[in-house]
Amino acid sequence: MVESFSGKLSLRAWMVVPETQKLMKVLLEDGGDARFVGGCVRDTLANRKELDIDIATTLIPQQVIERLKHHKIPFSTIGLKHGTIKAIVDGKPFEITTLRLDVLTFGRHADVKFTDDWKTDASRRDFTINAIFATLDGNLYDPFGGVEDLRLGRVRFVGDPEKRINEDILRILRFFRFYAHFGRGLPDDAALRACSAAAGQIPKLSAERICHEIMKLLESDRCAEVWRIMLRSGIVEHFMPEATNVETLENLVRLESSYDGDAYALRRFAALIDATPKGMKNISQALRLSKNQASQLNKMVNPEVSVSMDIGEGGVRKLVYHYGNDMARSLLLLAAARSGDEERLSPLYQTATSFRATRFPLLGDDVLAIGYESGSEVGRVLDAIESWWIAEDFKPRRTECLKKLKTDFKPKANK
Ligand code: ATP
Ligand code: MG
Repeated sequence: MVESFSGKLSLRAWMVVPETQKLMKVLLEDGGDARFVGGCVRDTLANRKELDIDIATTLIPQQVIERLKHHKIPFSTIGLKHGTIKAIVDGKPFEITTLRLDVLTFGRHADVKFTDDWKTDASRRDFTINAIFATLDGNLYDPFGGVEDLRLGRVRFVGDPEKRINEDILRILRFFRFYAHFGRGLPDDAALRACSAAAGQIPKLSAERICHEIMKLLESDRCAEVWRIMLRSGIVEHFMPEATNVETLENLVRLESSYDGDAYALRRFAALIDATPKGMKNISQALRLSKNQASQLNKMVNPEVSVSMDIGEGGVRKLVYHYGNDMARSLLLLAAARSGDEERLSPLYQTATSFRATRFPLLGDDVLAIGYESGSEVGRVLDAIESWWIAEDFKPRRTECLKKLKTDFKPKANK
């Protein structure tokens, strides 16, 4: 088949680095064909930093494996049932997927059949902007007009939205994710209607897949606007009914751009949520968050100390001492976003950034040295002195802490 190449991708660093050149040469020699596809092509066309490199090839997985072995390139076959081999070339990862069509789709599990037809492979991809191929020289093959859609900010399904969504319900969330990052103007009407109609099936998806998509969506600065559309279209209620505080999210994104610059997805998620600590436990479990993520999220949704713009700079120093600079900054941004009280944020934020918490200058040994026996009493005494030290705004030095210890506490035997 003669293919129509349309346009050219100007060469970027990731295409010309030795690792990419080496792998493509291995795949292209002896009659193989291989092209870049998906995120790396789309993000490069949209002038964004690409994250990972996906390669589509006419070689079947066994041939890919043989070539990689021959050139001593390490690889993983974890995605083999989807026709994907992950190669690591001098430390740089690549996903190599054989051109395929999805024969039957049961939710997320597609039976895979390989093909050597590029358009067939493009047809099984979700959106036109994700179905653009680029050769090593940057020649584009764009069978569904993805380049033009990207230019105009249109996120369109390849084929009929309803059918494509019923093949894989995750595509609902992917639609909103890509619309947040690449869309402009109103969302595609047919796509939106199809997403709305199938939203009741979202709970069938695995928690990991849902979580991955919403965190990616929240990285976009348009996340609040898109979340509002998702609320209105009855999408959110099917996977996270507690995530409705879209105004707080909107305020947070605005504050981040003047204070931080960092699009921190978990913090944005925290802004959306209204839940008790028990509710938070359920949410973290439902989304299979790691222990560390769950604990961070819980701190941000239900801080143990109340954080408001009345906290004062001493209060901020306490936050830094207990939670670290990053969390203190997040708690302040969230408090300002929730209350809409932004005027007093600046000096507090400054303190949360610049204050360096010192270590409490006493140790258990100091308590033992005045005659206490080791045991839980030692911890209680230390805690009491530490609370005094914090209340004194971290100023007392070790000698003053020792003095306080000796005057305020006497072991029972000496009393
Ligand atoms: P990013 O890597 O930035 O998350 P991506 O578009 O590269 O974005 P991947 O998950 O790496 O996303 O998938 C690579 C490509 O595989 C996509 O661009 C798309 O063409 C196709 N793809 C991925 N998931 C699906 C899906 N659920 N349905 C249809 N096609 C998909
Ligand atoms: Mg990718």
